[in-house]
Amino acid sequence: MKLRFFNTMGRLVEDFKTIETGVVKMYCCGPTVYNYAHIGNLRAYLFDDILRRTLEYAGYKVDHVVNITDVGHLTDDNDDGEDKMVKSSRESGKSVWDISKFFTEAFFKDIDNLNIVRPTVNPKATDHIEEMINLIKRLESKGFTYNSAGNVYFDISKFHDYGKLALRERQDLTAGARVAVDPNKKNAHDFVLWFTNSKFEDQAMQWESPWGRGYPGWHIECSAMSMKYLGDQFDIHCGGIDHISIHHTNEIAQSEAATGKKWVNYWMHNEFLIMNKGKMAKSSGNFITLDSLIEDGFDPLDYRYFSLGGHYRSQLQFSVESLNSAKSARENLFERVIQLKKDTNNIPSTKVGVTAKDYIAKFQDHISNDLNTPQVLSDLWLMLKDSNLSSGDKLFVVYDFDRILGFDLLNLEIPKQNDEADLEPEIKELIDLRNKARSDKNWERADELRDILLNKGFTITDTPSGAVWSKNV
Ligand code: AMP
Ligand code: ZN
Repeated sequence: MKLRFFNTMGRLVEDFKTIETGVVKMYCCGPTVYNYAHIGNLRAYLFDDILRRTLEYAGYKVDHVVNITDVGHLTDDNDDGEDKMVKSSRESGKSVWDISKFFTEAFFKDIDNLNIVRPTVNPKATDHIEEMINLIKRLESKGFTYNSAGNVYFDISKFHDYGKLALRERQDLTAGARVAVDPNKKNAHDFVLWFTNSKFEDQAMQWESPWGRGYPGWHIECSAMSMKYLGDQFDIHCGGIDHISIHHTNEIAQSEAATGKKWVNYWMHNEFLIMNKGKMAKSSGNFITLDSLIEDGFDPLDYRYFSLGGHYRSQLQFSVESLNSAKSARENLFERVIQLKKDTNNIPSTKVGVTAKDYIAKFQDHISNDLNTPQVLSDLWLMLKDSNLSSGDKLFVVYDFDRILGFDLLNLEIPKQNDEADLEPEIKELIDLRNKARSDKNWERADELRDILLNKGFTITDTPSGAVWSKNV
């Protein structure tokens, strides 16, 4: 399967070729663990997941690195604002170390709930201070840095290709003069590699360095960790589009300045999840977490389905109504797959007919063309509704698509048949009450009743066709 991706570097859809045959080395900017990820951030990780699954489907081995930013960084991308970890620590009364541990665990819980394949490596910034210091030393020895007011800066005027990824965005920034000029900088877009002169007296995370006790700038972390795990040159670097103009631009400058070589071949960026006409963002308070959706009765995979309904390079507008539509579609899908499993005894065809092969070809064509997931979902539904296909063939195709869509359909269980006649009246009444609570969207009461039933020895499982019970043994 030939893959074609939109490369932000050059703004063109290009044929994908790896540096090393059969292996893809890919780095995706990960979470800053000072708060819960919101569902906009999770859109970014779902995009990474579809990309990774597509690469694996196409036969590549993927080395997938996602960093955990646990060093405090500024609430503003441009070295301004307040330190995010310090702020969170002050507000919660917990240490910065406890905060990063807590939110790293919360991040992995979200990832698992969304059935996102875990990255091969998850390096933490605080475990790689030495690598960052070594990289800064390399830059210093090549003359790309200067010291000013106690901090070490990268001098962008020394790097001839500065801003090649950002194109228009950077010109806009300069023209609009949105950046307050820091008197310690030689050029407005110079950035800090190492801080010793922190404006935050209470900065808890500090390390010794050749330039004094302090802590690294944000951008250096991704360059140091990606190069450690993937080498001086690698295939794909991902992140949200907000990273193009500053973070990724600065990562490229310092990495290529250090090695003297082209760093990354393909830059891939996801567009924003939008809510109430604005970007979903922690800083503005305009955000929703996956846990809050679960509390409202959604399955995390409803959000996965919703997210795949938009192309990663288009903005996606979030609303509860559209998530509800995704929920119905996802439940319908599960119901259909359960029916196919029942029809076939869960044995897909071993040799599929030409119509099934055509669907697979169409699916491969759409996913390989810059990950067209909305088109793939529509292929899936056309296939499921096609009366020319046997159930065995449908099950085969659905399992094939699901290697990329990631709904874990292979493990979707056929609910056990209940025999109402076996139920004691008290249990039956509790189950009826719970069904009523769910249809009234009274999730708290429904959960309470499920716990009561559990105490009485009955497990209730919610399936697309309603709740089913089983007696615990
Ligand atoms: P952060 O934890 O803020 O560094 O963000 C983690 C990832 O989420 C980055 O790749 C961001 O570009 C991405 N991101 C942040 N906000 C949104 C949003 N509203 N929609 C999609 N991606 C986002
Ligand atoms: Zn990064």
